[in-house]
Amino acid sequence: MSTSLTLIQGDITEQAVDAVVNAANSSLLGGGGVDGAIHRRGGPEILDECRALRAAQYGRGLPTGQAVATTAGRLPARWVIHTVGPVWAKSEDRSELLASCYRESLRVAGDLGARTVAFPAVSTGVYGWPLADGARTAVATVRAAVAASPDAFDEIRFVVFDDRARETYETALAEEG
Ligand code: ADP
Repeated sequence: MSTSLTLIQGDITEQAVDAVVNAANSSLLGGGGVDGAIHRRGGPEILDECRALRAAQYGRGLPTGQAVATTAGRLPARWVIHTVGPVWAKSEDRSELLASCYRESLRVAGDLGARTVAFPAVSTGVYGWPLADGARTAVATVRAAVAASPDAFDEIRFVVFDDRARETYETALAEEG
């Protein structure tokens, strides 16, 4: 069976998928945007697990471009995969780190046995990444991962908040792979 790449305008916390990806920060202790929404809606268990991960494995924080999973508390999803996107920098090309967020999140999702995964537009909020470039990186990286492992997932869903982001992702998805 092949993997569908889908696009939804909505709230990442409401997605009934196996795993939702969190645009976390390296502290893993919560923040604004997607991170704040996930912890608010998911409840305190997620934060407890994040604290335990910090203590056991990531004393200095989760490095940018990496991903780690917790359960999903009260969210409809089963797991939250926390990944740390790069902060946009004009003076330095950090695209490889952004691509790594998508690749590593899918690797973690695959290890968990997740068949459906929902991604927010990592780094395009507080971290300032230009939306069109973030969308192209997201789509290209996910396409490459799916091409490498065609049977790993049933659906990979991009979840965006507003009209502009939806239109930007529609354009990226319509471009040749
Ligand atoms: P980052 O710090 O990685 O930039 P943010 O959470 O600030 O992450 O924003 C990432 C993207 O997610 C932005 O485009 C923002 O508009 C969008 N966003 C914010 N909250 C939600 C939500 N609840 N569901 C889906 N997308 C969201």
